[in-house]
Amino acid sequence: MKCENAQQNIILAQYGELPDELQFPLEQHLGICEDCRREWNAYLALNEELASTPMLEPSPNFAAYAISKAALVALVKNVAAEVKDSGITANVVLPSTIDTPANRKSMPNADFATWVAPESIAKLLVWLCSNDAADVNGAVIPIYGRA
Ligand SMILES: [Zn+2]
Repeated sequence: MKCENAQQNIILAQYGELPDELQFPLEQHLGICEDCRREWNAYLALNEELASTPMLEPSPNFAAYAISKAALVALVKNVAAEVKDSGITANVVLPSTIDTPANRKSMPNADFATWVAPESIAKLLVWLCSNDAADVNGAVIPIYGRA
């Protein structure tokens, strides 16, 4: 496997989309190529950090990530203020690691039991879209499971 292919496969692995038949060739390449192995280890460290960090909490070396999340919260709160008299609501839902097949594949050693079930997030979103939540506007709702 060439380094270019390994880099592409590392990206695929980040999204849990590395085909099974490429797993072994990638591992072989990581065994002999220090540059790609360094990138792979950085990816694993990032995954671990993201999985253990609630989205709005500060964490060393994650300024861009924290800023992007804070910007999203600010944007949605602004939208909420703009639409408050229109019967429309805007809220932010902040899940921690979602228990998906892709996340299980990319973080095989994590404790899946602490992750958020997609169904839990779906139920929250359905509720936020219901008339029962008509008065909830501009809320920032963490849904962290047991993380
Ligand atoms: Zn390489």
